[in-house]
Amino acid sequence: MTPIAANLQAVNARIAAACAAASRPPGTVTLLAVSKSWPEASILAAAAAGQGDFGESYLQEALPKLDALADAGLEWHFIGPLQSNKTRPVAEHFDWVHSVERLKIAERLSAQRPATRPPLNVCLQVNVSGEASKSGCAPAEIMPLAHAVATLPGLRLRGLMTIPEPTEDETLLRSRFALLRQLRDELNDSGLALDTLSMGMSDDLETAIAEGATIVRVGTAIFGIRNQESL
Ligand SMILES: *Cc1c(COP(=O)(O)O)cnc(C)c1O
Repeated sequence: MTPIAANLQAVNARIAAACAAASRPPGTVTLLAVSKSWPEASILAAAAAGQGDFGESYLQEALPKLDALADAGLEWHFIGPLQSNKTRPVAEHFDWVHSVERLKIAERLSAQRPATRPPLNVCLQVNVSGEASKSGCAPAEIMPLAHAVATLPGLRLRGLMTIPEPTEDETLLRSRFALLRQLRDELNDSGLALDTLSMGMSDDLETAIAEGATIVRVGTAIFGIRNQESL
């Protein structure tokens, strides 16, 4: 077994244990392998071990990889910061975007989504940590944003995503994930049908699953420690 296959097995075992601890059926959490900074060979090793969903954060780095692996039958998720002048390649090449935080970006993605492809799956990124974090829309803005995005024909609004500020405080971390779930529940009570909570990474996936994560985004625990320059 390759090291990546062994790591994947270990991460899947952690997910299964966290589901059991939370009395959630196994299979209610999707593992997104975050392959940023890793070459095609690493992605292929993970794919050979059964991994189907991959996440990338930097377009310049991602596009050649998506191109080279176009026939591998993989599902690609864009999870990085997204500027409005960079939306077209995301709309054209990815299956999911987790990091939409403004209506203008969503409108561009919708307009630029090729008619030959199914609607782009979208999560809205929420800043659950207040001033400690810059990325994501404020919790108070999510209701009107979600209802506006839900009307866009080129998109399928799936749910919410968050990256809490790093903390050693388990109770605080858990409350951040709980807030995302509460916002999702409020949106569903208001008439939307969101099935996705994208939250939890290598170090905190158990806590996120306890609070309802349906996608965990895991890089380091699968591929190893990234070199500093590329994050
Ligand atoms: C890099 C990254 C991850 C993966 O982080 P690890 O700690 O390596 O598991 C998850 N989500 C986002 C948005 C990232 O940029």
